Amino acid sequence: MIRVILFDIDGTLVDCRGAGRLAMERAWLEIYGIADAARGMKFGGRTDQFLFSELYRIHKVPVDATRHEQFIAVFIHLLHHYLAQTDGSLLPGVWGLLRRLREEVPGVVLGLLTGNARLAAELKLRCFDLWGFFAVGAFGDDHHCRNRLAEIALDRSERYLGRELEGREVLVVGDTLHDVRCAHSIGASCLAVGTGSVSWDQLREANAERVVRDLTEVKGCDLLGEMSA
Ligand SMILES: [Mg+2]
Repeated sequence: MIRVILFDIDGTLVDCRGAGRLAMERAWLEIYGIADAARGMKFGGRTDQFLFSELYRIHKVPVDATRHEQFIAVFIHLLHHYLAQTDGSLLPGVWGLLRRLREEVPGVVLGLLTGNARLAAELKLRCFDLWGFFAVGAFGDDHHCRNRLAEIALDRSERYLGRELEGREVLVVGDTLHDVRCAHSIGASCLAVGTGSVSWDQLREANAERVVRDLTEVKGCDLLGEMSA
């Protein structure tokens, strides 16, 4: 039986119309004076910490702790600004699924497993009144590697529940191959959803336990039984 469901954010719950990329590029320009710094970089499924380290590597900028802190502060400030400007949207079926899971299966813990830094995740989800659904989470500033984030999310879920969890009690919901891999790395199953940057066919080839076009195809209680069978 599934006891914990860990959701990715971008492409899975919400579409922020590239607000994160805009904020990161503008913050990099303000702090390091380089325009279009993230051009060509793929953001889907990557952690913020990984993306930051890629920017330092690609542009051969030495990491200075004080300037990095300034960069993060500007990034978060600009993310807030761009989220208000870019007219993002909740993805189909999200609100109904979260509400059904909370109301119909109260024993199941809802959590986050996202590459977004914690503050970025909170800003994005508060835009859509979703932040309050989630009791636990692992975030992009916890580690640069998504598989490690899955371990951290599992550990925090265990502490929240006060007992150890087996991988098969955990379900990861995400929109990229990275989500599928990180789920399997902790023995969890994955519900892959085709509302992000990866095609439905590619997700099917990634061996997710279930692939749906969007979350309107998922009914809360059925999901728990089906995925843990
Ligand atoms: Mg995603």
